[in-house]
Amino acid sequence: MAPSSYQAPMRGDKTKPDTQSQTTSSNLAQGQTTVAKLLEGKGDAIYSVRPSDTIHEAVNQLKEKRIGALAVTDEAGTLMGILSERDIVRRMADTPGQTLPQQVDALMTREVVTCTPDDYLIDILKRMTEGRFRHIPVVQNDRLCGMITVGDVVNYRLRELEYEALQMKQMIVG
Ligand code: AMP
Repeated sequence: MAPSSYQAPMRGDKTKPDTQSQTTSSNLAQGQTTVAKLLEGKGDAIYSVRPSDTIHEAVNQLKEKRIGALAVTDEAGTLMGILSERDIVRRMADTPGQTLPQQVDALMTREVVTCTPDDYLIDILKRMTEGRFRHIPVVQNDRLCGMITVGDVVNYRLRELEYEALQMKQMIVG
């Protein structure tokens, strides 16, 4: 028979609090890695076009640099918009055979969601998922200082996970 002080667990009782390694955010964002950290490895190259450039010039650059989006900047380097391959594909469907001579500013997205070097990668991933885009320009003090993609964030996290797995193996093996 159970001792009289024993209380049988009831439905809804919280037995133990989650440990750090059990929470979703800790699983996704171990180490709270920042955009600045990712840029250290990737570099801060920014490929850009001017609003008055043609889509022909933009697609050549997308092809040469093997990228999916370009920052649109003015002469001073200020961010005016973003032009993604998706914008071009959509326009090609709307204006077949007439897209390449059009100007970038007719296709670009003007309301650009940006981030700063101090933002956490997990928050950037959420922003991209919610906004349904795969690129985020990095801006600090009104100056464009990088571009990160969903692929960059996912690859970075995968490498972190591999490293963490290796550390755990070493702890177990001794
Ligand atoms: P993407 O998935 O990044 O190739 O872009 C999909 C659509 O979102 C295109 O219309 C882009 O112009 C737009 N877009 C891409 N990145 C951003 C961003 N950071 N902020 C706002 N719109 C964006």
